[in-house]
Amino acid sequence: MRLSRYFLPLLRDDPKEAEIASHRLMLRAGLIRQASAGIYSWLPLGFRVLRKIEDIVREEQDRAGALELLMPTIQPAELWQESGRYEVYGKEMLRISDRHERAMLYGPTNEELITAIFRDAVKSYKDLPRILYHIQWKFRDEIRPRFGVMRGREFLMKDSYSFDLTVEDARKSYNRMFVSYLRTFARMGLKSVPMVAETGVIGGNLSHEFIILADTGESEVYCHRDLIQLEPPGADIDYQGDLAPVIEAFTGKYAATSEKHDAESFAREVPAKDRVTARGIEVGHIFFFGTKYSEAMGCKVQGPGGDLVTVQMGSYGIGVSRLVGAIIEASHDDAGIIWPQSVAPFDVGLINVKAGDAATDAACESLYGKLETAGLSVLYDDRDDRAGAKFAAMDLIGLPWQIIVGPKGVASGEIELKERATGARHSLTVESALNRLLQSSREASKEAA
Ligand code: ATP
Ligand code: MG
Repeated sequence: MRLSRYFLPLLRDDPKEAEIASHRLMLRAGLIRQASAGIYSWLPLGFRVLRKIEDIVREEQDRAGALELLMPTIQPAELWQESGRYEVYGKEMLRISDRHERAMLYGPTNEELITAIFRDAVKSYKDLPRILYHIQWKFRDEIRPRFGVMRGREFLMKDSYSFDLTVEDARKSYNRMFVSYLRTFARMGLKSVPMVAETGVIGGNLSHEFIILADTGESEVYCHRDLIQLEPPGADIDYQGDLAPVIEAFTGKYAATSEKHDAESFAREVPAKDRVTARGIEVGHIFFFGTKYSEAMGCKVQGPGGDLVTVQMGSYGIGVSRLVGAIIEASHDDAGIIWPQSVAPFDVGLINVKAGDAATDAACESLYGKLETAGLSVLYDDRDDRAGAKFAAMDLIGLPWQIIVGPKGVASGEIELKERATGARHSLTVESALNRLLQSSREASKEAA
């Protein structure tokens, strides 16, 4: 992509409405624009990141055996009256009436709709277990939308729903989602810590929140230091096998958000040197709620003995759009964003230091072609602008690699390769720069596999 033809409206100054780094940087780097409180447009660069995050979430859901579908954003109120949540949900629900005065709503979550779909389609235990998911926009009329996409009103969520015959089977589905969440966040360069959680308006009795530690997080969290060091399972994890040992490793030590925190147990169970008190961002939340919705909505299947059995359910959410902000909170410096390679909007930024100089232009054009042919995505800054402004813009948008090409280098046959995360710069031939980049992208895809 040539920057001269791209749509990348950068802001020179810090927007005053932004209280935290990710919000400030998302506005400055031209990722989003606010449409109204808590509602955002995703500009081309931001949208590329959102899609990359969505792709990782999808790959890990599929790997764990979940099946993707797509439910609508607008739902009929009747379904929520059936479950009893229409009244309970309160002002966070955006209630709409259509031209026939029929009560509708913009879905804040999808337990009712998926339960109705499953109830009407599945009659026998032979069709269990199943995990269904979608990645769809949600609306919650948050009392205090803030921090940009971190607490929006309209936001993109991945929500999965499991259906099982027995509590024991449901626990296996829960474990599968638990493990897939560990992998999902790790692939985005995030250290997530699962913490015992309150079940809230979704209801139920077994629940974990996946928390990213960050100073600007909204939740106060307490955990054993060891949990922060644990490595998530690799891609060879067998989702059909016994996942209990993994779950045991990640839940065997103290970890709780403030709602579930108990200072006495914390002090008793965790040696003083290992006690971590921090702030965190909730990026995922999983629940087992048994028959809460299946009972109310009559979701039953014929069991092996011919009797009707009420289905055991769980639900599993990931804040896809919140993750864009969470990743930036975890990975930025004074100059701007530092994207982990797996979610970066482009692999490489190519900077033409002297656009208009025939030899430099030709060298850049040739390199641009080579990089794209090699399968790397490139944002080529071919604009006629000061070198300093180009460097600052490239640092701000945070692509993992920069290639800097100027007349001096062109004359000596060398270009400069800069790694955004470390700031390390190397003068290299085109050939060896290309090899370095390909090697790093191979390593990144190995991590994913
Ligand atoms: P919170 O406690 O942050 O209000 P929640 O517990 O109400 O969130 P869930 O129903 O568990 O949220 O939703 C699943 C995931 O969706 C959350 O873990 C979070 O990552 C994301 N999410 C929830 N509310 C918002 C929001 N207002 N803006 C952006 N993402 C959100
Ligand atoms: Mg939650």
